[in-house]
Amino acid sequence: MKKFSLLIITILVLMTIACNSKKETQTSGIDVTNLDTLISPKVDFYQYACGGWMLNNPLTGEYSRFGSFDKLAENNRKQLKDLIENMASKPTKTGTVEQKIGDIYNMAMDSIKLNQDGYVPVKSDLKYIASIKNKSELSKLIPELMLSGTDAYFTIYVGADPMSSSQNLLQTYQSGISLGQREYYLDKDEHTTNIRNKYKEHVTKIFELAGFSSEQAQKNMEAVLKIETRLATAAYDNVKLRDPYANYNKISIEEIQKLVPSIDWNTYFTTLGLKEVKEINASQKESLIAVENIITSELLDTQIAYIQWKLIDGAARYLSDDIYTQNFDFYGKTLSGKEEQSPRWKRAESTVSSILGEAVGQIYVKQYFPPKAKKRMLELVHNLQEVLGERIQASTWMSDETKTKAMEKLETFYIKVGYPDKWKDYSTLTIEKDTYFENIKRANRFEYAYMLNKVGKPVDKDEWQMTPQTVNAYYNPSTNEICFPAGILQYPFFDRNADDAFNYGAIGVVIGHEMTHGFDDQGRQYDKEGNLKDWWTAEDAKQFEERAKVMVDFFDSIQVAPNVYANGKLTLGENIADYGGLQISYQAFKKATKDKPLENKDNFTPEQRFFLSYANVWATNIRPEEILVLTKSDPHSLGKWRVNGALSHINAWYEAFTIKEGDPMFVSTNKRVSIW
Ligand SMILES: [Zn+2]
Repeated sequence: MKKFSLLIITILVLMTIACNSKKETQTSGIDVTNLDTLISPKVDFYQYACGGWMLNNPLTGEYSRFGSFDKLAENNRKQLKDLIENMASKPTKTGTVEQKIGDIYNMAMDSIKLNQDGYVPVKSDLKYIASIKNKSELSKLIPELMLSGTDAYFTIYVGADPMSSSQNLLQTYQSGISLGQREYYLDKDEHTTNIRNKYKEHVTKIFELAGFSSEQAQKNMEAVLKIETRLATAAYDNVKLRDPYANYNKISIEEIQKLVPSIDWNTYFTTLGLKEVKEINASQKESLIAVENIITSELLDTQIAYIQWKLIDGAARYLSDDIYTQNFDFYGKTLSGKEEQSPRWKRAESTVSSILGEAVGQIYVKQYFPPKAKKRMLELVHNLQEVLGERIQASTWMSDETKTKAMEKLETFYIKVGYPDKWKDYSTLTIEKDTYFENIKRANRFEYAYMLNKVGKPVDKDEWQMTPQTVNAYYNPSTNEICFPAGILQYPFFDRNADDAFNYGAIGVVIGHEMTHGFDDQGRQYDKEGNLKDWWTAEDAKQFEERAKVMVDFFDSIQVAPNVYANGKLTLGENIADYGGLQISYQAFKKATKDKPLENKDNFTPEQRFFLSYANVWATNIRPEEILVLTKSDPHSLGKWRVNGALSHINAWYEAFTIKEGDPMFVSTNKRVSIW
């Protein structure tokens, strides 16, 4: 299923398919079995705080990465499975949400039919793609396929106009390379070359499994590599994609027609069902120019093979076991180091949650989200908001002028907790009993219709970019909103029975993290209305840049694998957010307990428990392959460095664990970050 929202928002963690336990009530919240007391916190805090957890939660074959975050997500997944299976096992009335959820789940589970059908569900689409006779037909074919989920060359989405945030704008976005990251096509090191060679084998095998002769499959693979490499060469890297100005290029329809003349944009928009489109944000201009050059210079047959690949590649997860397995062997095993496939029910649950997310969420929150949790969360959010305000006011490097603007932005945060007040309407989505893949296409068309309907209309700030059952949180700069879905408001983030040291260290830092995104290197470029507009004095902006540079340099020097270093620029926003979250939440914790200080528990001071609770959120086991994948692609630092890298800059942490000069974890004060 396609996902649109991740194009702009800043999330807390990059989710992988996630696994389960019930927590005993703990008044300190700290589970001492998570610790590794054989090592000193002064030597490796992450190992000290999380070593026990990592030993007790070894990676199973299904995962390339598994952390306490994923453990919670896994628990949610089991709850959702029960809810969904309950619907799927009963007779339902056609057109009801129960029928849609039940039928799609049952189709995903029906391995006998999936295997009988083989590649038949994609056969007619492949034939249709092959039937085009000249390049002018691409103007209709590309959008037609995009609507049902195939992104060839580039994609389209609708989101707030970055310069006029209350209005929705049609926007293009670079896409069309199946390896996702441009570096996989371009880097010449041994690891990447090996992946590229395996990818070539994979593309060839998939074509064969989809009914092509070996000779044709080989030829098609060469066509795919040729076009994808050209797209990759022009694509922006992940650092440039984080620069909102570099990705803003609002132009008229006449202008995009000049930029990419090979596509008849009138036909393109008509196929999308859009009338009277006047302007478009042609993001990543160079990528679009590359599309133009590819269409004009490559033979039609080469382009047909590429488009066919994009279709089968997107469909592979919804087809027979031989195709699914080949797909897993490449993307799961080779790329990420996984050893075995997830059980079928998990894949089925994830499809349902993706297609009918809010329908499932509505049932989920009724059963699992107590109203008390929302009230407690709102209190925490307000406490942290107040403290961030105090920290801004007390800042020594910012002028009063910029401070006033920063305070206005902070005060206008749009806060969302738990679940949306109004739910998405799925009445126009139909789920029929033909094939699983046919329904995936229907769901994509439904999502596109829903999204395209927003073109030219005001932004609906009450719409949620995540479902309530999601274990994550986000900040959206264009609406200046922070959102904490019900799914994250559980242990190890939130424990109603634990004291403030625990909850401020865990969910408190998450709240502070999302708030800080409004003021990180990217978020600070948007004003309180969510417009891309500079509200900083030149001197304050310079101060910010200098201070942020300390963070960039610090992370650039971290070796994550032999001869592989973290990318300080790519992870800057997230590292600032972790740092800011810790600073704000720690101060809010001290403020909240000022009149009634907490006692030592489990031989730890309240301050120590705050930092242990923070670290435990990021306890993770990860495969070496996945470290390389995430270092290329993920704007978040790896779990180990979200702990050791972030805490090195927090003075209160040095005090809590009496870390002194000469200790391996010690970073001298002039190398510590000081921003928020
Ligand atoms: Zn974040």
